[in-house]
Amino acid sequence: MDTHMGQTPTGGQIEHFDVVIVGAGMSGLAAAYHLQRTLPHLKYVILDSLESYGGTWLTHSYPGARSDSDLFTFGYQFKPWKGNPIATRSEILSYLGEVIQENGLEPHIRFRHHIASAAWSSEDARWNLEAFAGDSGESVRISTSFLWMCQGYYRHSEGYTPGWRGMDDFKGEIVHPQKWPKDLQYKNKRVVVIGSGATAATLLPAIAEECAHVTMLQRTPTYFSTGRNADKMADELRRLQIKDEWIHEIVRRKVVCDRAAVLKRAKEEPETLKQELLAQVRAVLGADYDVDTHFTPPYRPHQQRVCFVPDGDLFKAIRGGKASVVTDEIEEFTSDGLLLKSGERIDADIIVTATGFNMNFLGDIKFSVDGEALDFSKTVTYRAMMFTGVPNLVWIYGYNRYSWTLRAEIIAHFVCGMLKHMSSAGAKSVRPSFRAEDHDMRISQWVDPDNFNPGYLMRAQHLLPKRGDKPEWRHTQDYLSESVDMNAIDYTHEPLQYE
Ligand SMILES: Cc1cc2nc3c(=O)[nH]c(=O)nc-3n(C[C@H](O)[C@H](O)[C@H](O)COP(=O)(O)OP(=O)(O)OC[C@H]3O[C@@H](n4cnc5c(N)ncnc54)[C@H](O)[C@@H]3O)c2cc1C
Repeated sequence: MDTHMGQTPTGGQIEHFDVVIVGAGMSGLAAAYHLQRTLPHLKYVILDSLESYGGTWLTHSYPGARSDSDLFTFGYQFKPWKGNPIATRSEILSYLGEVIQENGLEPHIRFRHHIASAAWSSEDARWNLEAFAGDSGESVRISTSFLWMCQGYYRHSEGYTPGWRGMDDFKGEIVHPQKWPKDLQYKNKRVVVIGSGATAATLLPAIAEECAHVTMLQRTPTYFSTGRNADKMADELRRLQIKDEWIHEIVRRKVVCDRAAVLKRAKEEPETLKQELLAQVRAVLGADYDVDTHFTPPYRPHQQRVCFVPDGDLFKAIRGGKASVVTDEIEEFTSDGLLLKSGERIDADIIVTATGFNMNFLGDIKFSVDGEALDFSKTVTYRAMMFTGVPNLVWIYGYNRYSWTLRAEIIAHFVCGMLKHMSSAGAKSVRPSFRAEDHDMRISQWVDPDNFNPGYLMRAQHLLPKRGDKPEWRHTQDYLSESVDMNAIDYTHEPLQYE
């Protein structure tokens, strides 16, 4: 790998890095940590459009924002989690801040650098990036030998809001949770939260006490599980004064095993699992609550993420009377609130559209290879992280049903191993290509809708790459097999072509 300053065609300077990491969220910081430890001689930079680190955890500042998986596995393998399993946004941001500070990552991060385009030149074996920086949006040229894409899966600049008739007539405020105004006054106001996912479920209990009333309006219910925000094993090990590093590793393994067992049951005995989840909800809401209408989804558990409600706070807010659920569809917005398809009206001062994400692919960056625009939907992913015909680029897409970060770290180990191999083999580029035996392989959509089908993924399937049915080309979302297979990759024998 080489490092030097170059020149643009108009004489401006291009700064060169061995590795550019796109995104300073959970995945990008994991990438930087592992890269720096394994290959300390490489010159790298993290570029992020936002003004600080954290990605998702910076963008989502609505009241109650928290993780819905445990931080033993959502946190990093290398930094023990010392708190309760489910963490608030500010706890996660503090944890990430410590990772940056303890590992000297700060000098490597450039905030407010939005990458607009990435052009690969085979002649120079590098990506030429155009970024827009700071307030002025000044164009900055950077080149890199390797692109590590940790840009997440949705557009941070705007959330997804369906267009409803009459939205302009509404006299109150319409807010998307991705753009929560700091000074939003919801005290004593009537609030409607449209949506049934994790965001709505965390927002409701966080604001219910202060609002006049908060209604969760959903078209389709979600599965919830509930329990104490505590881990018995972690608490016991802490009582025995076991080292934090050990507790972290032991609890991580236990969480992963428990999760694998649940996912197996979701496949093998979905009806039993469904009844168990509904029983948990009934136990908090009481026998007279209409769980069938409001908390029984029309799909199998884990076909979409099951949302964990720590200490049953959502259900307690509903039982307390300050929050309620309406399952119906919106006919239109009115000046005073919403008219529903059933004819019911809900008056509101504030309407929160917790309607999800605009999934984006690779940070909305325009990619090209040797002057030809790249259409990733025509590529097939190699182990769901590299694309056929696309050199020196790795994409982080984490787990949907395990913690996302587990996969970000598995891939980080893989990338560091591959970069080491390239250095010792004197290779300047690597790209996955079909082997002779791959050409007759069955190619399908990247996500199997029968297996996992949240709205944001289904809306974007046409933009996504494809997968094959041989082990190297599958997209399994299976942590247990990937954690073994990815560590055993022989960099010389895979369908990885080096030049
Ligand atoms: C409220 C909420 C709670 C969640 N809870 C969990 C959970 O408990 N467990 C779990 O597994 N997952 C959870 N998720 C999913 C979560 O987004 C991921 O797990 C994780 O935080 C993603 O980290 P990331 O670094 O990959 O991406 P992100 O957090 O999305 O960060 C990507 C970064 O890349 C930057 N970027 C993107 N494009 C560009 C560009 N063109 N140029 C420059 N920079 C760019 C963005 O500005 C952003 O800072 C949650 C999501 C939300 C919204």
